[in-house]
Amino acid sequence: MPYTVHKLNDYSEETMLKAVVQFRLALKIEWFEIEQKIINPDLTSAARQDELKKFRDRWLSRKSGQFSQINELWLKNAPADRKKSVGHLINQLKQNDLPQIEQLIEKRGFFVRQSSDAIRSINRIFDDEKGRKLQQETLATQSRMNSLLQTLESLGSEELQKIAIEEFYVDLSEALEAAAKSKDLAVERLDITLPGIRRPIGAEHPVIKTMNEIVGVFRNLGYSVEEGPEIETDYYNFEALNFPPNHPARDTQDTLFIAGQESKALRDRLLLRTHTSPVQIRTMQKMKPPVRVVCPGKVHRNDALDATHSPIFHQVEGLAVDTNITFCDLKGTLDHAMKALFGSSVKTRFYPSFFPFTEPSADVQISCIFCDGKGARDGSPCRNCKASGWIELLGCGMVDPNVYGFVDYDPARVSGFAFGMGVERIAILKYGVDDIQLFFQGDVRFLGQFG
Ligand SMILES: [Zn+2]
Repeated sequence: MPYTVHKLNDYSEETMLKAVVQFRLALKIEWFEIEQKIINPDLTSAARQDELKKFRDRWLSRKSGQFSQINELWLKNAPADRKKSVGHLINQLKQNDLPQIEQLIEKRGFFVRQSSDAIRSINRIFDDEKGRKLQQETLATQSRMNSLLQTLESLGSEELQKIAIEEFYVDLSEALEAAAKSKDLAVERLDITLPGIRRPIGAEHPVIKTMNEIVGVFRNLGYSVEEGPEIETDYYNFEALNFPPNHPARDTQDTLFIAGQESKALRDRLLLRTHTSPVQIRTMQKMKPPVRVVCPGKVHRNDALDATHSPIFHQVEGLAVDTNITFCDLKGTLDHAMKALFGSSVKTRFYPSFFPFTEPSADVQISCIFCDGKGARDGSPCRNCKASGWIELLGCGMVDPNVYGFVDYDPARVSGFAFGMGVERIAILKYGVDDIQLFFQGDVRFLGQFG
């Protein structure tokens, strides 16, 4: 029958001592047995780990481990006048033996994970004369403890005292460590010819890196950052941005709709946002002018995958609304931002475009950063700008006065501009990536280059 902590019949000094000695002897003997089991190379590594785990559970488990049982069965039932001295004895036991046995288990953890071959070669080193002597000593100690345990009941108070003192102050690990020492040395021996363990260094994803860079440029201009939901209602994504139902501009932003919402009014139906512009509406609803915000985030469109299109991409949009904001402010702001992102020699040009929520609207081109705007490189036409010297990069415009109607701003008093840029598009230019899909495939060979 394996040892278990049992209730004490009485709380006399003698009974207590006997119980403590019995506990410590049982713990040591069982540990000796485990030691012998796990050095057996015929066991699989899993079986060795299992043995160690069983031992740990049996003695150290928080709920039913033998160490926890001491509190349950000894301390809780102790009469009031003995509680203090019982508590003292238990504390001594726990402070002394518990950390030692935990440490031993920890140390053996490495050993038990070795393959049978490794254990065999470790044992071979251990199997010299010194090793055998240690093993004999260990076995002798073990059998001495076993016989002590058997005669414990018949021992008188005085002998018990002697053993208790001896047992109590002899370091638990001392007896056990000796047997294991040469094995430890063998296990811990370093083979410096083994390849090292490489810890890959993480890197910021190029899209996030670029997005943070763009946001940083506008932060420096005093813009704050606003974010909003990726699943939007039709109202915020289209209607409040001056895309009335059935407006043809909606076709250019076909997206993924959440299914099963036919019973809802059109404006409440949910969809994956096609741009970060809804965040501008949400911002204006909760903030009075002056407003200066950038809204970075993920957006979706029903685009087929190819080298320049993806159904998922990222945008940074910006919005500035105040009194007396003019198109000049817009041009100055974006010209500065492009220079900050691509270098001070970059030029910008604006030409008319259309967006439902801005009037007038413009597309912005920057001078080609690959051919310095010349349209040709090394005597042949520049592929990046299709020999035009310009690259189209973002859309912008003055906020359409209709939009202010949706957010309770007075179009007669305030004016403002908005702009939006695709983060992947800018990352492609900055890092010379030739396929937008690379950003979403999660290939570490690609992503690792941005570390
Ligand atoms: Zn070019």
